[in-house]
Amino acid sequence: MNLLSVQNLCVNYDSIRAVKSISFEVQQGETVCLIGANGAGKTTTLKTLSGLLPAHSGEMMFDGKRLNAMPAYQIAALNLALVPEGRGIFTRMTVLENLLMGAYNRTDRANVQREINDIYALLPRLAERHQQQAGLLSGGEQQMLALARAMLSKPKLLMLDEPSMGLAPIMVQTIYSIIQTIAKQGITILLVEQNVRLALGISQRGYVMEHGEITLSGASQTLADDPAVQAAYLGEL
Ligand code: ATP
Repeated sequence: MNLLSVQNLCVNYDSIRAVKSISFEVQQGETVCLIGANGAGKTTTLKTLSGLLPAHSGEMMFDGKRLNAMPAYQIAALNLALVPEGRGIFTRMTVLENLLMGAYNRTDRANVQREINDIYALLPRLAERHQQQAGLLSGGEQQMLALARAMLSKPKLLMLDEPSMGLAPIMVQTIYSIIQTIAKQGITILLVEQNVRLALGISQRGYVMEHGEITLSGASQTLADDPAVQAAYLGEL
């Protein structure tokens, strides 16, 4: 079943068309990646799905509801979560306060506390620093916090924008293993990455975006084996 369906979506910045009639879908339980070079339109697509930018035309359906013209807070209330590029954490708030912000729309406080304890067990770095200002965390720890905060909102779809950006290779591995743990819990993920090898490695399907258009799509393994993808993005051939 399609959890997210995007049909002929166009997005403009004033007179510049950044997203040019793209169509794609994400099914319940899948990890799907949207890959492509810098400036291809990936972030613009995620922002539009989150209600942070208006769609010029096209259709966006999520969990049976039409997202077009819905304000961002209503979209968030549908349990569509975005972890933005640069993480979007509240730097002056503590780690714990950031986590609680993820759960602000929940009323089951006992469950929230239990889930925070589970997060601390899984990510001891956050437990050790739970009273520290989030802005003092390393980039990798901030990315962990952003992922954990998004999970506390009980997302039906988790959209991740460049989770590997700016991180040391060892930290990238840690973050990607956290993302795989999240996927194994059955959470549906739409992953945007410039690091094509990483993204194809953990997803079932992928879409390649170039200059605002989707130019290729398919099973991630098929894309990884595609000579055109290898030449353009994997530094092979
Ligand atoms: P990146 O990885 O750099 O974020 P991307 O694939 O996510 O790349 P977008 O950030 O979506 O690409 O950018 C798509 C196009 O829209 C680019 O040509 C970019 O220059 C342009 N663009 C992005 N933000 C704005 C803006 N606020 N105003 C005008 N043009 C913009």
